Amino acid sequence: MIFLVIICLIAGLQACRQSITEKSEKLRILTTIAPLYSFTKNIAGDLADVDNLLPSGAGPHECSFSPADIVKVSRSDVLIKNGVDLESWLDKLMISAQTGKKEIVIADTSSGVEIIDNDPHIWLSPVNAVIQVKNIRDCLVKADPGNSETYRENAGLYIKRLKALDREIRDEVRTWKQREFVALHPAFTYFTKDYGLKQAAVIQETPEIEPSPKHIIDVIKTIEAAGIKAIFSESRASHKIVDTIAEDLKLRVYNLDTLETGELSKEWYEEKMRANLAVLKKALN
Ligand SMILES: [Zn+2]
Repeated sequence: MIFLVIICLIAGLQACRQSITEKSEKLRILTTIAPLYSFTKNIAGDLADVDNLLPSGAGPHECSFSPADIVKVSRSDVLIKNGVDLESWLDKLMISAQTGKKEIVIADTSSGVEIIDNDPHIWLSPVNAVIQVKNIRDCLVKADPGNSETYRENAGLYIKRLKALDREIRDEVRTWKQREFVALHPAFTYFTKDYGLKQAAVIQETPEIEPSPKHIIDVIKTIEAAGIKAIFSESRASHKIVDTIAEDLKLRVYNLDTLETGELSKEWYEEKMRANLAVLKKALN
């Protein structure tokens, strides 16, 4: 009986393996967060199977992984990560996933980006997105040289679109009267640095952790001293502390998206960046 069960299991595994290879001889790429999915999908097109590790709604700061995630990683050929310690949980996941399997190629998309202390959200500036796209392109060219020409061509076209987005933001921001704002968590330092804005204060110094009363007092002082009129929250959760500060100081609350989680599509990154630009314009212009 046990013998039979074992035979069935082996046969089942074999069938599973066969169906995977028959279904696709394509490169299997796994990205960690939604922006990297957008970037990679634009470069790979239909030449590779692209999947994202974090499910919609789960942010990278509070990530905990399941046995299904280990399977997802172990089935991939290439893993595209943001880097800058955003995926601090990844090492453990890789050790579980790589046992007894060929090596998975890992691309750190932050390579070459000028890192600002305590902010891993490099993708929120299209200037950095271009560098990330180049890193992904180089990784795909290495992993799948047969399709290198198409990867280079697709990356070139996408970089043109990202540069158009960059120009659009620059032209828009130039005309705004207000340059300083308060954000919920320190996510927009790259964006503000590249476009001449200032994140005067952040409410949560550490993502997902409620601030101390002393910190809140400092934030309020900063808001008053700089004459800040807008405070930015995030759409994924309601943050009582933001509403309280806004009510006390008569500020308007706007929602910005940190693009940590969302729809997996080619256009998603550009759409969300333009939506953020529209919110900033309303608040600061
Ligand atoms: Zn974040």
